[in-house]
Amino acid sequence: MTRIDLHTHSTVSDGTETPEELVATAAAAGITTLALTDHDTTGGWARAAAALPAGVRLVRGAEFSCVSPTGRPETPGDRATVSVHLLGYLFDPEHPAIVAEQRRIVDERIERLRAMARNVAADYPQLDADRVFDLVPEGTTPGRPHLGQALMRAGVVSSVNEAFASILRNGSKYYVPKRDTPVEQAVAMIVEAGGVAVFAHPLARRRGRVIETSVLADLAALGLGGVEVDHPDHSPEDRALLRGVAAEIGLVGTGSSDFHGTNKSTPIAAETTDPAAFEELVAKASGVEVLGG
Ligand code: AMP
Ligand code: FE
Ligand code: FE
Ligand code: ZN
Repeated sequence: MTRIDLHTHSTVSDGTETPEELVATAAAAGITTLALTDHDTTGGWARAAAALPAGVRLVRGAEFSCVSPTGRPETPGDRATVSVHLLGYLFDPEHPAIVAEQRRIVDERIERLRAMARNVAADYPQLDADRVFDLVPEGTTPGRPHLGQALMRAGVVSSVNEAFASILRNGSKYYVPKRDTPVEQAVAMIVEAGGVAVFAHPLARRRGRVIETSVLADLAALGLGGVEVDHPDHSPEDRALLRGVAAEIGLVGTGSSDFHGTNKSTPIAAETTDPAAFEELVAKASGVEVLGG
């Protein structure tokens, strides 16, 4: 029996389980291959590796914060963009371009979360904007879920999900954008570092505007290796659409839970990747090895 979950978060970004707890949770859930994909950092790799239980293989990865065109421009000057996530697996974590870009994005995220906290505190004085970073230990990639936790503690909302619905969502009056990496550049960076790049949840429509599938074809030409097909935020229709597109343009289709501990309601291994698809992905990578087993 194999059970492969290729997208999970720990406390090194916006998950609620430490890397050590996460690999134990994976083992308890019968996962045989787990990818750790914290936002914009490889900071949890060594901890997860050191705590890896027997019988679990570890794919070291990260989820890169990117900006993408929404589609092919229809008119000259059409530059509509959308914030997207790109999963990188098995890349060299010391590749200078990746190290520099992850550092830049984390710094950007710190300033952005501080600005959002101030915006929210202006309307919700129960929130102490200066204390939001108490919930973000050194070395952690800060994200909106941390602000959601702070809003829970302040008694403004009863869950992080509720915080997103009312206050933190894209387009809310409190929202502050961050300068993400152009997705074409991120694909190139991951490939150059020996990794394989997989477009994360491209049709997660409840988060806002999404890309047209032509973007996947354009990125495939630049070295994109796969696309997340089975994801909790994808409808059955969109999964079918993506499966077709992936087959047509030669991308590996994956399935993953995007587990965030109690910051989201999806359990680990809620979605999984087919073993043959996983082997195809691994064959495209040459940066670092899959660990354990
Ligand atoms: P950020 O990276 O700071 O822009 O925040 C985006 C993150 O918030 C995503 O990676 C998810 O982990 C999380 N998120 C998005 N929507 C929700 C939601 N409805 N409930 C809980 N967490 C969410
Ligand atoms: Fe997240
Ligand atoms: Fe994501
Ligand atoms: Zn994720």
